[in-house]
Amino acid sequence: MAKFIPEHIISEIQNSIDIVDVISEVVILKKAGKNYFGLCPFHADKDPSFSVSPEKRIFHCFGCGTGGNVFTFLMKFNGYSFPEAARILAVRCGVRVPEQSLTPAQKRLIDEKTRFFKINTMAADFFHQSLLNGVPGKNAITYLNRRGFSEDIVTRFKIGFAPEGWDNLLSFFYSKKIPLNSVEMAGLAVVRKKGSGYYDRFRNRIMFPIANIAGNIIGFGGRVTDDSLPKYLNTPETPVYNKRRSLYGIDAAKTKCRANETVLIVEGYLDFLALYQAGSENVVATLGTALTDEHVRMLRGCIGEKGKAILVYDSDLAGIKAAQRSIAVFDRGHMDARILVLPAGHDPDSYIRKHGRDSFMRGADKAKNIIDFLTDMAVRQHGLSIEGKLRILDDMIGPLAAIGDINKKSLYRKELAERLDIDESAILHKVRDHDKKKNDTRPWVPGNDAMMSASNGSCSYAENETETAKAKFERRLIAMMLQFPDIIPEIETRRLPDFFENSRLKALGYSILKHYADSDGHVAKLIGQLKDKRVHAIATSLAIEEQSWSYEGCLKLIDQFESGIKHHERILLRKIKEAETKGDDVNLIQLLAEKQKYARNKAKKQNCVRRR
Ligand SMILES: [Zn+2]
Repeated sequence: MAKFIPEHIISEIQNSIDIVDVISEVVILKKAGKNYFGLCPFHADKDPSFSVSPEKRIFHCFGCGTGGNVFTFLMKFNGYSFPEAARILAVRCGVRVPEQSLTPAQKRLIDEKTRFFKINTMAADFFHQSLLNGVPGKNAITYLNRRGFSEDIVTRFKIGFAPEGWDNLLSFFYSKKIPLNSVEMAGLAVVRKKGSGYYDRFRNRIMFPIANIAGNIIGFGGRVTDDSLPKYLNTPETPVYNKRRSLYGIDAAKTKCRANETVLIVEGYLDFLALYQAGSENVVATLGTALTDEHVRMLRGCIGEKGKAILVYDSDLAGIKAAQRSIAVFDRGHMDARILVLPAGHDPDSYIRKHGRDSFMRGADKAKNIIDFLTDMAVRQHGLSIEGKLRILDDMIGPLAAIGDINKKSLYRKELAERLDIDESAILHKVRDHDKKKNDTRPWVPGNDAMMSASNGSCSYAENETETAKAKFERRLIAMMLQFPDIIPEIETRRLPDFFENSRLKALGYSILKHYADSDGHVAKLIGQLKDKRVHAIATSLAIEEQSWSYEGCLKLIDQFESGIKHHERILLRKIKEAETKGDDVNLIQLLAEKQKYARNKAKKQNCVRRR
């Protein structure tokens, strides 16, 4: 990291920024003791296992092991590089980062995302101006007016218009001296199939800029105003736009989502705008994709652990499809999810205009959870005759099987049995059969994301069960060094890490000693310098613990460790003797090597003591 930005600048940023401030923009944090706790944004967290220490300026998740300092957080959460994260934080706390320390190649790398944000922002301004000033833009305005959107909402969300023609936007960028291949890479232009050059991707469409949670424009959605196809066209995947991770309106909605502990999820830009304009500002829209694990995680960060999500749909069929598709995603994300289907012929926009927002909100408050909703739908479709009940059962097995939480599953099973007045064990058998089949073939849930969640949080940071008693002891010593740095000179003198058997803890021990010898020794800075992922995870997990240490207590622990080493040495000598008597040369060579290692460590240690 020092290659890009001078070390003292990084320290300055680290010392002036409040990590709790930065993280609580995207995760609801509550104070408990010295630390803050919240739901982890990096895995599907059930109980708040994510903690932030303002004092140590680090965070750590006890669920998945992710942790680090404020730079690490921004890098992991937003996918920034280290220099990007540093620059963003520098601006935030008013620290100037010297530009001259960057080579042109480094600067290009760092600026890539910033460049895409800039191109998108310029395009958004261009489209917005075309809407307000252009002649064809008038039709678009008429369309928006007819849909009831106010000038305020058009300005607030910088809605625009992409004029008819093949190179309006390209000419604009050309006049601004922006390289056209960058425009193409940002997804705004397409390479011509014949000949050379590019053409505008978006033509004759109303344009909705899409922002990330931090408010940077990452892409666009374009909608036609007539019957031409496709009705919606979105930015393709780019280095900054990924629809699996993006939700329209999230930056504008996050504060209200937090306040209401509820988020409304709609399918399109216009539904979003209608709800937002009507005063329901805790709303987001998916971007032509089913809800993903990433979406749910991001939303849970906004609404908190007790919060709920309400999916809003305009027809039973759309509602059923979405319910079936999203049940496993919500279940994995431990999110309380409900479904609200509007009366036939209504979308949120038309419903609110006809019946008002209060009526809409009353409906939202009464929205059913997904399983109840699906049961209702099945009952309505098949009726409660014997044949009907059998069909309902068939319909409901998939959704029930998609629930991972055993207690929840059993409660729903009971409820369904009561409602259909059938034996619960019959349902149980069916679900089991289904599970068996599911293991053989493809999972029931369309758009399955199981692999995503399974691959998440693979980093083992915690004390594992096979760890030896000695390694456990070493872990305690490292925790002591991280939490009570006063003891470090003593550890240095006695050269304790030399005697560690666990290689990661040993490496960490040396890093800590080096860090405290070389610098002001703040733990957040040390953690930023650990390159090995596992060592990094161990360090954050141990540093964030709240134990109280006393100097005497520490000395006692060190003494215990040393007498353990002596004991081990005695055993080693005995084993060597045994091997010698038995003539077991293979074993003997190994044991002697170990003895030599001990002797070397001891000699080093004595040198140190003498120097002192
Ligand atoms: Zn986590």
